[in-house]
Amino acid sequence: MNTEEIWQTVLAEMELSVSKANFTTWFRGTRILEQTDKEVIIGIPNNFTKEWLRNKYHSQIFQIIKKAVPGLLKLDYRISTGANIHSLNPTSKSDQKPAPAQSEPQPIQTDLTKINNQNTIFNPKYTFDNFVVGHNNRLAHATSIAISENPGTIHNPLFIYGGVGLGKTHLVHAIGNEIQKSFPDKSVLYVSCENFTNEFIQSIGSGKINNFKKKYRNVDVLLVDDIQFLSHKEGTQEEFFHTFNALHQNNKQIVITSDRVYSSIPDLEDRLSSRFGSGMVADVRAPNLETRVAILQNKCEEKHINLEPELMTFIAQSINTNIRELEGALTRIITHCNLYKIDPSMDTIKELLEDITSIHSSKRVSSDQIIKAIIKFFNITHEDLTGKKRTRELVYPRQIAMYLLKHELSLSFPVIGRELGGKDHTTIMHGEKKILKEAATDKHVQNDLISIKEMIYG
Ligand code: ADP
Ligand code: MG
Repeated sequence: MNTEEIWQTVLAEMELSVSKANFTTWFRGTRILEQTDKEVIIGIPNNFTKEWLRNKYHSQIFQIIKKAVPGLLKLDYRISTGANIHSLNPTSKSDQKPAPAQSEPQPIQTDLTKINNQNTIFNPKYTFDNFVVGHNNRLAHATSIAISENPGTIHNPLFIYGGVGLGKTHLVHAIGNEIQKSFPDKSVLYVSCENFTNEFIQSIGSGKINNFKKKYRNVDVLLVDDIQFLSHKEGTQEEFFHTFNALHQNNKQIVITSDRVYSSIPDLEDRLSSRFGSGMVADVRAPNLETRVAILQNKCEEKHINLEPELMTFIAQSINTNIRELEGALTRIITHCNLYKIDPSMDTIKELLEDITSIHSSKRVSSDQIIKAIIKFFNITHEDLTGKKRTRELVYPRQIAMYLLKHELSLSFPVIGRELGGKDHTTIMHGEKKILKEAATDKHVQNDLISIKEMIYG
């Protein structure tokens, strides 16, 4: 394997064991800079990433590389500005334009003339051609096609909802790609609700709110992903309400996705909720076995992989949670077989899938479980943890809670603030950062974290 292939293997394996947000944040822009028989140097975009990889993922990365470089003794990190974001996507072809990851804040785009050139924002991997239609997504798919053919005239807004990994983001990118192709003059903007919120807050902070308004109220098609993030965000809800109206009144197409139906988004203003439901509402559900097999067939064709039908069926039977996990399992099997130069067999696949299912079950913890473990570990009460008393004995467990809720569940700072008794998000950021720093050097903190994690996952 060459260095590029080794790094792709690392990325493919890490993608399975960390959350999507963490993966995008810490592995974006990384690659192998130098490789000898004993030493590998990884290029990273900044110092912060270096600290993170070294503290949190070092041994995992080391073990994966060691499979390909058996004599490996040392793994080091070096800042390299030339690192490209291609390396995030193990299957990307070199002719594809890189698409910025969803969870990365996009730079504030204020020049209106540039909006038309934002087509790189759509992930070229996500098209209608490679979207497998089944009973679970038929309506969402048909409506998305209809909208792409006639943006702004029918089904406005389109509200697509459903669980994680079931194809919502794929569909909105497919809409974006398609409209861009058929109507090159139309400005199409994709934004995750999280980025919309961040940009809105930044634009207030920098006195550029008018630029923000202009940007979002002057597009022909606005695609907003994961609108459930508007929950509890009064100011952003207000702004989004006006954005929505400005577009809707001018027959500009709006497409919204959410992980639940609009009426179940906590603390969402009624006027928004009623607008979200005023057009077409379509859900995406978990695919049945036949659709899962069809999706695997599709992915194998895309990757030019030959997999026996019974192996495909076996994988589809084993992974019935969502399509992202199904794809992840396939990627893992392929990289494993490439690495060891073997053909996929039932035994290998069984072994690998066992691993994957155990990784995923270990990921499924709730904030309650984390909080319970912390309370037990420090022998304090729930009130102690969420209260305001600022003694040393209580501040440290609280900060540990902030850190673990962030890193184990990828919750946002405001959500963690609420979990911990209504604390301000800046307090949470401070606490999380403090533990992050201490965990790098302080053995006690490291041990506490290990023990608590054992309680959570053990
Ligand atoms: P969501 O946004 O609902 O969480 P995504 O759109 O990110 O889910 O989908 C997760 C992965 O599954 C993506 O790689 C996507 O391409 C793939 N996927 C989802 N649905 C389908 C489908 N119907 N056909 C092919 N691939 C799909
Ligand atoms: Mg999504």
